[in-house]
Amino acid sequence: MLIYPDFYFDNVRDVKLDFLRKHNIKGLILDVDNTLIDFYKKFEEGTEQWVQELKNAGIKFCIVSNTNKIEKVKYVAESLDIPYFYFSKKPSKKGFMKAKEEMGLNVENIAAIGDQIMTDVIGANRCKMLSILVKPISEQDIFITKIKRPLENKIIKRYLKKMKKEKV
Ligand SMILES: [Mg+2]
Repeated sequence: MLIYPDFYFDNVRDVKLDFLRKHNIKGLILDVDNTLIDFYKKFEEGTEQWVQELKNAGIKFCIVSNTNKIEKVKYVAESLDIPYFYFSKKPSKKGFMKAKEEMGLNVENIAAIGDQIMTDVIGANRCKMLSILVKPISEQDIFITKIKRPLENKIIKRYLKKMKKEKV
């Protein structure tokens, strides 16, 4: 289903190399706001190291962000030394496909990680990439995201229920 992620993790750092290998993932598309940085543009501890370790293992990266604040995206991308696209209008496929070209990979070898269903998950699913939802870093969202959260939480609840059922 288009609104459900393929996987749900607590944070980006829980997406480990063995998991990526198991699913044949060679490249990661990353969201910025509340996935890599919090409301105050701060990285959580260990995020830079997580990127570096996966890079060392040959995993490619690209940032696809919806924000129009180029300075913010640039700061994050340069801190992690990965290419970026901003103002991407996710769930539009455009940014995802640009990232795919940038990484030189096929969609089946790409996973997209983000904290929002309406943008990150649906966009990745539309592109037939592996979709990974993570919990938002900070509770304090920008206004437009705040409006969408209750619906997102409802979908996540339903998703977790469904996963539980499937496991039994
Ligand atoms: Mg986000």
